[in-house]
Amino acid sequence: MSISRRNLLRHIGVGAVVGASPALRAFPPPRTTAAQWKNSVSAAPPSSVATAANPILLYRNENPYGPSEKVLAVLRESAASGNRYPRTEYDTLVDKLAVLHNVKSEQIVVGCGSGEILCMAALAFLKPGKKLLQAAPTFPALGRLAQSAAVEVVDVPLNKRYEHDLGVMLDHARTPTGLVYIVNPNNPTGTLTPRKEIEAFVSELPSDVAVLIDEAYHHFVAPVGAYESFLDRPISDPRVIVSRTFSKIYGLAGMRIGYAVATPEIAKRLAAGFPGWSVSIVSARAASAALDDVDYVRLGFKRNTDDRQEFMNQVNARMLRAIDSQTNFVMMNPMRPPGEVIEHLKKNNVLIGPKYRVLDKYIRVSLGTPGEMQAFWRVWDLMPPVDKMAM
Ligand code: PLP
Repeated sequence: MSISRRNLLRHIGVGAVVGASPALRAFPPPRTTAAQWKNSVSAAPPSSVATAANPILLYRNENPYGPSEKVLAVLRESAASGNRYPRTEYDTLVDKLAVLHNVKSEQIVVGCGSGEILCMAALAFLKPGKKLLQAAPTFPALGRLAQSAAVEVVDVPLNKRYEHDLGVMLDHARTPTGLVYIVNPNNPTGTLTPRKEIEAFVSELPSDVAVLIDEAYHHFVAPVGAYESFLDRPISDPRVIVSRTFSKIYGLAGMRIGYAVATPEIAKRLAAGFPGWSVSIVSARAASAALDDVDYVRLGFKRNTDDRQEFMNQVNARMLRAIDSQTNFVMMNPMRPPGEVIEHLKKNNVLIGPKYRVLDKYIRVSLGTPGEMQAFWRVWDLMPPVDKMAM
């Protein structure tokens, strides 16, 4: 194996979590429950207060509302099973996912977050001499761990519409390539690459190149336009692997659970060498309950759409610029040096995304609750007026 498992886990942050039993002594309630939110939409939300001990977290594209009430109940109940290894919980979850996506159970691989799925794909398809092809900017974990294993990474800048530049990617794929990583919608831009173009791209790829389509933010996309999931309407191409996560719309980032759907052969190859027990009994039960709670997914979509619209209103009111987002985060041009903005917010206990090498004039802000976003803008407005001459 060219990429050591230890290296992989270290770089994707899975190591610390694998095997760590979520003891779940007490689950703090989410800041706003679904019921509270429903009741409060018409009233102005109370602004949150950011403190050093309790900063406002707008940096990891989490669900600020937390899991649903139904999932919280399962989490609380399941805490008492923390002394047991999972028994039937994986099968239950895998079977549910198979029904949801209309595939066989052998086609599902569950991981400690979709981050572990990325590790699996790297281990299965990359080695020195077989490069990784990805967009720039995109979610960096896979690229980082490839680099750490001396695998060449080719970053192809997004095109002018912030889509994957599939023509250029195809040119690069003609020389030895192990894996193409397509994040759709993309992080950090929140933008879509049209399904038709990805299909055409895949059909032109050399037969030994695998494609990982990361749909972590799928649930936030408005069901119109050129985007379509590769799970909801699969293509029969054995090279395509699709990953999803419970960390975003389901509000379970801390529970560390994600999955991949692939052919039975590829699924087996992905899972090879990985422990079949990296997801806790509590996480597996919570994920199953989350799949059953379809109303909460609908609510999450609606809430995110409203929160994003309000964010864009605030952006426009300040004459700033933002890239149209289909996700729970927005990439925006703050019209002043990003490093200074990030620092100013941090000093005031508001954390946003990092600086980017490509699109280096932009910052990424994850959407928080209305109260958190009020606090964000309050801190924003403490910045001195922009010195246009210095820009
Ligand atoms: N893929 C994308 C595009 C992400 O943005 C993230 C996290 O933010 C992940 C994968 C990893 O998510 P997780 O390991 O929590 O499933």
